[in-house]
Amino acid sequence: MDDNCLFCKIIAGDIPADKLYEDEDILAFHDINPEAPLHFLVIPKKHIIGPGYIDETDQEIIGKILRKGGELAKENGHESFRLVANNGAKAGQTVFHFHLHVMGGRPFSWPPG
Ligand code: AMP
Ligand code: ZN
Repeated sequence: MDDNCLFCKIIAGDIPADKLYEDEDILAFHDINPEAPLHFLVIPKKHIIGPGYIDETDQEIIGKILRKGGELAKENGHESFRLVANNGAKAGQTVFHFHLHVMGGRPFSWPPG
């Protein structure tokens, strides 16, 4: 737990979130500012800063986040979806606690801007 981290506060229950899934390792909740009809985030309960800070002991949890992200997208009726994880401000990261964006329900261009 990082006392200054927004997502750690959501995990602790200090800030509310619209949750889709939770277990002992991970949490999925709807993005507060959705960029697609389906847009939720999947995060580890452990405070990992971002994709550039995954250590060997985190590999299983990151795999679980990917698996669960896809599973939840399909359960919510989306066979096509986009997964995004930003690392660093220049890549668009604004919350420095690892999060997988799961987005669906509209076309996505490639490459992303
Ligand atoms: P990123 O720019 O990749 O760091 O993504 C951070 C995401 O967190 C953005 O899409 C925000 O809309 C989202 N976000 C920020 N605050 C909250 C919150 N309190 N509840 C849910 N999503 C949030
Ligand atoms: Zn955190």
